[in-house]
Amino acid sequence: MHYTAQQIASIIEAKIHGEPLGAIQWLVTDTRKIIFPAESLFFALPGPHRNGHTYIQDAFRRGVRSFVVSAGLALPTLEAAVFFIVSNPLRALQQLATFHRKQFQIPVIGVTGSNGKTIVKEWLYQLIQPDITVLRSPKSYNSQLGVPLSVWQLEPIHQLAIFEAGISLPNEMVNLEAIIAPTIGIFTNLGAAHDEGFENRQQKLTEKWQLFRHCQLVIFNSDNAIIKEHASHSTVKWLDWGSSPTAFVQIVNSTTTLNGTDLQLIYAKRKLTLHLPFSDTAAIENAMHCITWCLYQQMPIYTLQVRLQNLQPLEMRLEWKTGIHGSLLLNDCYSHDLSSLQIALDYLQQQAGGRKCMAILSDMEESGLADAALYFRVASMLAAKGVTNLMAIGAKMVPYLAYFKDLNIQVLPFEHTNAFIETLDAHILKDAVVLVKGARSFGFEQIIAFLERQAHRTVLEINMQALGQNFGITKSVLSPTTKVMVMLKAFGYGSADAEIGRWLQFQQADYLAVAYADEGVNLRKGGVSLPIMVMNPAPSTFSLLDEYALEPALFSFEILNSFISFCSRRGVANVPVHIKLDTGMHRLGFSHTEIIDLTQILQESSFLKVQSVFTHLAASENPLADSLTTQQAQSFEASCNLLQQALGYSFLRHAANTAAIFRHPHLHYDMVRLGIGLFGTAKPYGIAKSLIPATAMYTTVAQLKKVAAGKTVGYGCHAVLLRDSVIATVRVGYADGYRRDLGNGVGCMFIHQQPALTVGNVCMDMTMLDVTDLSNVHPGDRVEVFGPNMPLAQLADLCGTIPYELMTGISQRVKRILVEE
Ligand SMILES: *Cc1c(COP(=O)(O)O)cnc(C)c1O
Repeated sequence: MHYTAQQIASIIEAKIHGEPLGAIQWLVTDTRKIIFPAESLFFALPGPHRNGHTYIQDAFRRGVRSFVVSAGLALPTLEAAVFFIVSNPLRALQQLATFHRKQFQIPVIGVTGSNGKTIVKEWLYQLIQPDITVLRSPKSYNSQLGVPLSVWQLEPIHQLAIFEAGISLPNEMVNLEAIIAPTIGIFTNLGAAHDEGFENRQQKLTEKWQLFRHCQLVIFNSDNAIIKEHASHSTVKWLDWGSSPTAFVQIVNSTTTLNGTDLQLIYAKRKLTLHLPFSDTAAIENAMHCITWCLYQQMPIYTLQVRLQNLQPLEMRLEWKTGIHGSLLLNDCYSHDLSSLQIALDYLQQQAGGRKCMAILSDMEESGLADAALYFRVASMLAAKGVTNLMAIGAKMVPYLAYFKDLNIQVLPFEHTNAFIETLDAHILKDAVVLVKGARSFGFEQIIAFLERQAHRTVLEINMQALGQNFGITKSVLSPTTKVMVMLKAFGYGSADAEIGRWLQFQQADYLAVAYADEGVNLRKGGVSLPIMVMNPAPSTFSLLDEYALEPALFSFEILNSFISFCSRRGVANVPVHIKLDTGMHRLGFSHTEIIDLTQILQESSFLKVQSVFTHLAASENPLADSLTTQQAQSFEASCNLLQQALGYSFLRHAANTAAIFRHPHLHYDMVRLGIGLFGTAKPYGIAKSLIPATAMYTTVAQLKKVAAGKTVGYGCHAVLLRDSVIATVRVGYADGYRRDLGNGVGCMFIHQQPALTVGNVCMDMTMLDVTDLSNVHPGDRVEVFGPNMPLAQLADLCGTIPYELMTGISQRVKRILVEE
C-alpha cells in the first residue's frame, strides 16, 4: 500500500520541509537495508550511539529522498529532498504503523511471553498458511522498532496476521498493543528472561498481559498457576490447555517415542492422539499453543496431524558453512519468501568482504504477488545486494530470467535439484560467498551436503545475535564518543576471526587488535579493512605489517629501534604505531622511568605517527585490587601527559578490558578494548549480567554399548562399572580441546537436555559418557559439550581453569558455524 506525503504528514503530525514527492511504500531505519530508495521513507532515529541524522547523507546517496527527522536539529542541504519534521521519529514510525493497522479488519494474533514467541509464530504460520494468506513478523521483530516495521507490511491480500511482542521494561507493552491491536492473544510462558527490568515476575506478567486487553480470547497453558490466576481476574475469554480436566484442550498423557512424542488429548469431550516430531518440553509447549488454536478453528484432525508432522524445528536459523573451493555457504533451506530473502541477503552482504556474492535459489513464492512481480522484485533485491551470479533451480522462474540478466546478473538455470548436483561445475563457486535458499520441497539439504567441505563432526557454534546483543550492551555503557577496539587475538578467542572481523566491520567497531602479525594477515585476507593493531610484532614480520597495513604496538626500546631502522630503510612516512606502557602488569611495555628516553626517540622519528598509547590493567575484575588499578591509571595518565607534550599532537588513550569497561567507567578514556565480553563469558557486574554466552560446542554420538557391571571403560582401566551400564562414545576428545581432566565423572555433557557424566579417561578423539539413565539416545544424536545447559564458565570451573583457556584451546579441526537466529 502507498501513502502520499500529505497523508503521512498528517498521520505523524509533521511539519514538511521541501517539495512533497511521490508515494511512499517502504519504511527504512537502516541505510544498509535500502532496496527501493525512491519509494522509501528514511527515519533518522536518535540512538545512544548512532544518531540516525548522521546517516541522512548516506541514505541520500543511495537514492532516498524522503526523511523523517527530529525537530531542532540542523537539516542538511540536499537538492530535491523532503523532510518530515517531528518531535520523535520513533514515535512517528509507530503512529504510521498504528494508522496502517486500523485499515484492516482481519484477525490478528499477538504472541508474547518469555520464550518461544518466534517459534510459536512460525509454527502457527506453517500450520495455517496453506489455507489462508497470512502475514507474520519477520524473524523476531518484536521490539518498539520491529513491531511497527512488521505491521507496516500488512496488505489487502492478507487474511490473518501474526505479530510477536517483546518487552524488557515496564510500560512498553501498552505501546505495542496499540500498534498490533491483536484480536487474539497467545501467552507462551513466563520465565526468567528480562527479570532484571521488573520488580518481580508478577509485575512482568501484568505488564505482558497488557497486550491482551482488547483481545477476544487468549491462549495459554493453565498448568502455570500464576498465569491462570492472572487470567481469571481479567475479562478476556480463555482457551487454555494443560493437565486440568477443565482445560479447553486437556493433555491426558504424553509418551516419548522413537521419533518424537505421542500426545493424548481430550478436546470437546473427544479423545484424540497427535504425534509431534519432537520430544523436548519446550517444543511440546510451543506446539500445544498452536494445536489449541487449530482445534478451536476446527481444522480437520487429519490435516492437523499431517502438518504437525512437517513442522521444522530450525526454521529461523541460518548457518554459515565452509564450502568446497574456498567458498562460504549461507544455508537457508527452509523458506522461500521475500522477507526471509531480504534477511538472508543482508547477512550475505555483511560477510562478503570484497568477495563475489552468488545465490542458489529455488522457485520462490510470496502470498498475493504474481510471478512476474515477484521475480522482478527478487532480481532487484539480488542486484541491490551485489549478487553477480544466480543458479536458478525450478521451472517457474524460467520465463523471468531476463529480469536478472537485465541487471547484469549471470544466470545458470537448472530444471531441478538433481540436475544441479549432477551438472554444476563447482569451480564457479571458487572463493565466493553463496546463499543457498530454497523451498523445502526442493530438498536443498542435498545441495548443502554436496557443497559443504566434509570435516570432523564436532562443531563450535557462534550465535551472531548474542554477539550483537553483547556488543550493544557494551556500547550502552560507553559515552557516544568513546571508541571500541575489539580484541580478536587467538582466532577471535578461538571462535572464527575473519567472519567476526567482517561482522564487526559491519557493526562499525573502530579498531581490531590481534596478538601476532599472521592473525592480522588472516583478517585482511578475509576482507577486513578496519585498522588493526598487532600487539606482539616481531622484526621478522615487519614487512608483513607493511604489506597488509597492520599497525604495530611497540613495547620496548629493542622493538622500537628495530622498527625505526626498518622504516628508515624503506623511507616511508606517517607510519601508524601504538605505544604500550607497563603500569603494573609487568608483562610488556615501557615503564614510567623510560618515558623521557621514549619521547626523545619518538621526537627524532617523526615519520612514526602514534595512533594510540595504552596500558593493560592487571586485575580490573577484582574489587580487592582496586587500589592497584587506581595506581595503574595514575601512572598511565602521567605518562600520557608527558608523551602528549613531547609529540604535540593528540592520540587515543586506552586501558580498559571487558571487566574494566563494566567496573571502571572512569577508565574508558578515548577507547576501550573489548575481549571476552563480546563472547558473553565475562564475570557478571551490574549490566554485564545481561551479556549472553555466544558460543556452544556440539558433537555427536558415535556408538552405544551395553557394558556389564564389573567391566572397565577406556584407557588405563580406570573406571570400573558398578552396575550394568549403557555407554555412549562421542566424537570429541582432548585433541579437540575437551580437557583430559574432565574425564572420570568430572565433566558432564548433555544429550536431549539430559546430563551424562564422563566415564573413564578422555581419549584423544573420543570421550565415553554414562547414558544408562537417559531415554531416547541413538547413534548420531547431537551432544552438547558446552552451551545452554553447561555454561563454558562452569565447565572451566570443573577443570580448574578459566573460560579464556578453554575457548582458545578448542582446536582448529573443530568446525566453526556461525548461526543467525
Ligand atoms: C586480551 C586483551 C584484552 C581483552 O581482555 P578481556 O578481559 O578479554 O576483555 C585487552 N587488552 C589487552 C592488551 C589484551 O591482551
